Amino acid sequence: MLRRAGLALAALVLVAAPAMPAPEKVAPSNRLLHEQLLVLDTHLDTPAVLEREGWRFDEHHHYDWDGSQVDLPRMEAGGLDGGFFVIYTAHGPIDEKGFAAARDIALVRAAAIQKMVAAYSDKLAFATRADDAARIAASGKRVVFQSIENSYPLGNDLGMLKTFYRLGVRMAGPVHSRNNQFADSATDTPKWNGLSPLGREWVAEMNRLGMIVDASHSSDAAFDQLLELSKTPIILSHSGPKAIFNHPRNLDDARMRKLAAAGGIMQVNSIYLVQHDNSDERSALQDRQEKFETLGAADRRKLLADIAAWNAKRPYTSATFDLFMASLLHAIKVMGVDHVGIGADWDGGGGVIGMEDVEALPKITAALRSAGYSEADIAKIWSGNLLRVMRKVEDFASKT
Ligand SMILES: [Zn+2]
Repeated sequence: MLRRAGLALAALVLVAAPAMPAPEKVAPSNRLLHEQLLVLDTHLDTPAVLEREGWRFDEHHHYDWDGSQVDLPRMEAGGLDGGFFVIYTAHGPIDEKGFAAARDIALVRAAAIQKMVAAYSDKLAFATRADDAARIAASGKRVVFQSIENSYPLGNDLGMLKTFYRLGVRMAGPVHSRNNQFADSATDTPKWNGLSPLGREWVAEMNRLGMIVDASHSSDAAFDQLLELSKTPIILSHSGPKAIFNHPRNLDDARMRKLAAAGGIMQVNSIYLVQHDNSDERSALQDRQEKFETLGAADRRKLLADIAAWNAKRPYTSATFDLFMASLLHAIKVMGVDHVGIGADWDGGGGVIGMEDVEALPKITAALRSAGYSEADIAKIWSGNLLRVMRKVEDFASKT
């Protein structure tokens, strides 16, 4: 999750062109392969979008207009079978009052996911085990796993992990963009030099329950300790290689190798490929985009014109689809094809020029084919590796 609004190129073509030029560029044979694969993304921040007034998950939206990247029609068009829908909670004060407020926000977001699946139960189904994914996809429905981004709302009560487990959550990361009671963030000044004592207990409880430990957003030291302490392979649900862009959210090659050696996986992100525009102006535009459904025609046109004008001055990102692929291929080169997947941070800051929303996902399959990867390799990248890790996590919990 990262605040953002509008990719540069996307906004320049605005209303005149449909949002998604990508799929028609994919050869029919690659498109067919993509349709036949189980395609899962490990970081869908879409639950935040569900809370917008007037926004419907079963309607086709335009990225250029409202900034959203995932809905049912676009999942179907992009061959996205599902993934982890994220319960994200922003950082707040490290005290009981802050914890209580955050807990309520996280529970409301969890309820939004429950409502979404209930409202479209003919199209969506909850998954809580690795084996659920293929079964649900084969039944023609989309797969809804759930994860927690930022364990801050758990407060000091690790019993809350079990509450979320019972709601179906099967993956969690200890921290987001600021240090909290569990761990240091990749984007804050070290407080614990990795995990706090409570953070160490958090790892043990995650293992015991059978939840995947997600090290995205953790500091390098916290990553090292998560890897060392976890009895099961860990995941980076939406991260990238530092070799592509030197940002604290990305990982160096040595750590990526350590992750692979421990059986873990990196789900490659589509942000932190270049420096993004995170200006106040960008943030204000995003606030207006979030209200898109409630705007009248004149306000919508004004908003799109303002986005185009700001993008001409300062684009959100200059990252292209080719740069995203360079990042993915670098991760595969360093870690091996058994240790890489996709977590593009949709609805949370992801998207590049040429892959603005999930309708463009067949392009990844086509590009992997062009790079010489076999169908079996591509199947691992889209879900096989993730489900292997998930089974290991399930097996450990069933034996403890
Ligand atoms: Zn994130």
